[in-house]
Amino acid sequence: MYYPKPYNIGDIVETKKEHPCGSKQWEVIRVGADFKIKCLGCGRIVMLPRPQFEKSVKKLIKSAENNENKE
Ligand SMILES: [Zn+2]
Repeated sequence: MYYPKPYNIGDIVETKKEHPCGSKQWEVIRVGADFKIKCLGCGRIVMLPRPQFEKSVKKLIKSAENNENKE
């Protein structure tokens, strides 16, 4: 069942598709209706609407909030 996950600024996520630079890991730098993520491989920043972001994310690698680690 689908439910929206709470993403926070500073989270590290892995995307299903890799960036042309070869990295699949991104840091969330802005949340809201639009998300901004920064590629950890090359530093490129991409902005995309939340539904698209959630679709492209495979998993949360590291949560910025340590005390709130819910699956
Ligand atoms: Zn990249």
